[in-house]
Amino acid sequence: MENSNLLAIAEEFGSPVYVYDSEKIVSQYNRLTKAFKKVKQVKLNYAVKALSNLAILKLMNSLGAGLDTVSVQEVKLGLLAGVSPENIIFTPNGVSLEEIEQVSAMGVQINIDNLSILEQFGAKHPNTPVCIRVNPHVMAGGNSKISVGHIDSKFGISIHQIPHILRIVENTGMNINGIHMHTGSDILDIDVFLYASEILFETAKSFKDLDFIDFGSGFKVPYKTGDIETNIEEFGEKLTKRFNKFCASYGKEVTLGFEPGKFLVSEAGYFLANVNVVKQTTSTVFAGIDSGFNHLIRPMFYNSHHEIENISNPKGKERFYSVVGYICETDTFATNRRISEITEGDILAFKNAGAYCFSMASNYNSRYRPAEVLWHNNKAHLIRKRETFEDLTNNQVQVDIFSKVSEPSS
Ligand SMILES: *Cc1c(COP(=O)(O)O)cnc(C)c1O
Repeated sequence: MENSNLLAIAEEFGSPVYVYDSEKIVSQYNRLTKAFKKVKQVKLNYAVKALSNLAILKLMNSLGAGLDTVSVQEVKLGLLAGVSPENIIFTPNGVSLEEIEQVSAMGVQINIDNLSILEQFGAKHPNTPVCIRVNPHVMAGGNSKISVGHIDSKFGISIHQIPHILRIVENTGMNINGIHMHTGSDILDIDVFLYASEILFETAKSFKDLDFIDFGSGFKVPYKTGDIETNIEEFGEKLTKRFNKFCASYGKEVTLGFEPGKFLVSEAGYFLANVNVVKQTTSTVFAGIDSGFNHLIRPMFYNSHHEIENISNPKGKERFYSVVGYICETDTFATNRRISEITEGDILAFKNAGAYCFSMASNYNSRYRPAEVLWHNNKAHLIRKRETFEDLTNNQVQVDIFSKVSEPSS
C-alpha cells in the first residue's frame, strides 16, 4: 500500500484505525501453497485468533483455506462467515468437555490435547473421529512465552504417554483420524522443526486410520530489516520430501496440514495513530499518540518490535523519538527510535499490525476499540466500525441501591 492510501484512510475513517491489505494476505497464502505443491493433499487452516474479523475469514474461505479455532465463539464466527464445518478444526486448550461436545455437534473436527478429555469424549462418542495434539517436547526458540512444545508446557499430550493414548483408544473403540503438533510461534531453525516432525511421523505409525497430520504453525515473519524469517521455500522442499516418504511407507495419501496465523496476516496490517503531543524532556523526545496498549499490546506484552513510519512526513529529517501512548500506565511502543521529524497532528503507521493486534485490543481506560478497514482492489472497505459510548455501557446493569451518605453532624 502507498502512504497516500493510508493517509486517505486515516482522513476518511479517523484515528486510530487498523488497515489490512488483502493483496498481501493472498500473496502469503499463495507462497505457502506453492512451497508444498508437490504434496498431493495440503490443507491450510488459518488461525482465527490472529485476526478474527468476518471479512478476513471470508477472504480466507475464498482462497480455499480452512480455519483453526480455539473457542466455540471462533467456530461460530467461522460459520457466520460462510465456512463449512468440515473446513474447521477446533484446537482448544483447557476447555470443558461440554464446549468440545458443542463444537463437535456442529460437525467440526475436534482436536484433543489431554488424556482426561480424550477418555471422557471417547467413552461418550466413540463414533466421532478425533485428532490428537501431541507434545514432541521440542523447544522452538528461547522465549518460553512462545515455545509451547517443551517439557513444562501445558499444551498437548506428551509423546511419552502414547501407550496411555493407545490404551484409551482401544478401550473406547474410538477412531483417531489425525495427529497434530504446534511447537511454538517461531520456526527459526528448519532442522529443529524437521526433528520434531520425525517424532510426529513416528507417533503416526501407531494409528492406522489417519486422514491428516497437522504440523501446526510457527512460521516467522520479519518485523524489521535483518530479521531472520522462516525460509518457506527451503522448508517446503525438505518437509515435502520427508512427508511423501512417510505417505509411501504408511500406505496412504494423508493430508498435510498447517495452521498459520501470523504468516498470513501480520505483514498485511497497518495501525494508524495520530500524534497528540510532542514532549521534550531533559533526555528524550516523546511522541504521544491517540492510542496505547488497549489497542496494540504486543510491544509491551511480548517486547515485539513494530516498525513505525511518520507517513505525514516520510522525507523529513530523521530524529530520535520514544513513541508512547495515552494510557495512564507505562505504555511505550518504541524507545529511542529513528523516525522522520514528527509534528503534532502527524499520522504514524505501525507495521506488522495484522496478527495479534486488534484481536488483543481492550477497552482499558474506557477507550473505544478502533475501526478496521480492508484495502481490497484499490478500495477501502470499512469492516468494523469504531466503538461508541454505548459499547462501553451496553452490558452494564445500572443499579439504584445506594443512598447518599449523610453529612457528618458537627
Ligand atoms: C496460535 C496458534 C496457531 C497460529 O500461530 P502463528 O504463530 O500465528 O502462526 C496455530 N495453531 C495453534 C494451535 C495455535 O494455538
